[in-house]
Amino acid sequence: MSLEEKIINILENSITARVHFRCDGTSVWGDGYKIVADKIRSRAILCMENTRLPAGTAFYSLEVNKLSVSTEMAKGMTSDTEKALIVHEATHALQDRAARTLNLIDSECPAFIAQCMYLKLAMPNQFPFQVGPHVDIFVIAHNIANTMLKPGGNRTLTAASVELQSLKEAISKCPLYHPREDEDREFDGIAEV
Ligand SMILES: [Zn+2]
Repeated sequence: MSLEEKIINILENSITARVHFRCDGTSVWGDGYKIVADKIRSRAILCMENTRLPAGTAFYSLEVNKLSVSTEMAKGMTSDTEKALIVHEATHALQDRAARTLNLIDSECPAFIAQCMYLKLAMPNQFPFQVGPHVDIFVIAHNIANTMLKPGGNRTLTAASVELQSLKEAISKCPLYHPREDEDREFDGIAEV
């Protein structure tokens, strides 16, 4: 199976279809990921293996509409944690499609919630994260996803929400994002080629 096919399969699977919520202006919904899958089919979004990326990582480049994955991810993409990471990156593609400039931290919040909602749906009784620089982010995002998924759970987080504030704080403190916390991401749309 090609890399594109593996990624499309994840974006169109029945778990991704159930990932939906609103987070301070970003709308995430299952069918949105199908639009991202179609953009991959039409090559408006490119998927590439990047041998320089550390194992287990992926990256969406908004300037060139490209989803890069590590060599190890390109080979695998069978575990729920890998699939959830693809959903994280595809959430940035959804933000790109909406073509609205967002602060870096604000843009990461819905991506982490989507990743955790996927994992909560795929493995309801596990917390599949290892200790590392991201662990605080995952604890909070996983809790948010868990609350949203409860029957009747509120799936809208406003800017004023306490949970969202604590998620933003955890992302700002993470060494990966801290040096860039004031950066803006100029999402500029995904044109058809
Ligand atoms: Zn991200």
